Amino acid sequence: MDSFRHFRVGFSAQQIRLHTVKYSLASTQMEIKGFIDISFSDWDSRVSSVIFLPKCNFRCPFCYNKNLVLESDTMPTIAYDRIKEYLETNKKWIDGVVITGGEPTNHEDLPSLCSDLKRIGFSVKLDTNGTNPAMIRKLTEDNMADYVALDLKAPLTEEEYSKACGVSAAGFLDRIREAIQILLWGNVDYEFRTTVVPTLHQAEDVERICQAVKGCRKYALQNYKSDVETIDPRFQDLKPFSTAEMEAFFQAAKKIVPHTILRG
Ligand code: SF4
Repeated sequence: MDSFRHFRVGFSAQQIRLHTVKYSLASTQMEIKGFIDISFSDWDSRVSSVIFLPKCNFRCPFCYNKNLVLESDTMPTIAYDRIKEYLETNKKWIDGVVITGGEPTNHEDLPSLCSDLKRIGFSVKLDTNGTNPAMIRKLTEDNMADYVALDLKAPLTEEEYSKACGVSAAGFLDRIREAIQILLWGNVDYEFRTTVVPTLHQAEDVERICQAVKGCRKYALQNYKSDVETIDPRFQDLKPFSTAEMEAFFQAAKKIVPHTILRG
């Protein structure tokens, strides 16, 4: 892994470091654009490595992953073989691999990646925006994912979701509803989660999101982080919610989903 170097990009979870190789080593079909060797924050209670896949069908204005979503063609591709070599060498330290993005489920070769990670002995967590229920069904039913985190951006109305995801949500809402049902009724562990963003969310919105996943095993709320480059530059300098405001979101969610957690 000594040939890996760090660079920073914005992205949608807590981490802000990605690794890439000094030069492109692309040798597989899978376009991997970022890799974190060790993370303690991407999978609760687990030490994980994180693989970033590019592109997304959403344009959430608050997205921290601007480069990965909009400019991934300019980013070097990391050869999966190098990542695999690192994972196999460091197997004793790493509990699982998180696949995130961008939106991973839009990559047709995602099942091959998951299968290979499982084959070499790693648990797999998938981060998704829920817009590809067929892929989520395949991965969960065929035992290729051990945990799914589905981001819910807003209450499931066309107007509200479109505002939060930055594109027309009309064609996506039924797919997201289907993905929710797959997780609610499936056998794979999961969480639903929402990043609450000033100007987009109020406590009442969180309540309505929770109504859509009532009965779920886990719902996570995370506060928006400022000072990271966002898809819509107007979101970059927004002040995150205060502790008291986050507590209000938490209480609103907990009324409907008892297993709500505050993260970050
Ligand atoms: S779903 Fe939204 S926040 Fe997540 S990668 Fe896509 S644009 Fe960014």
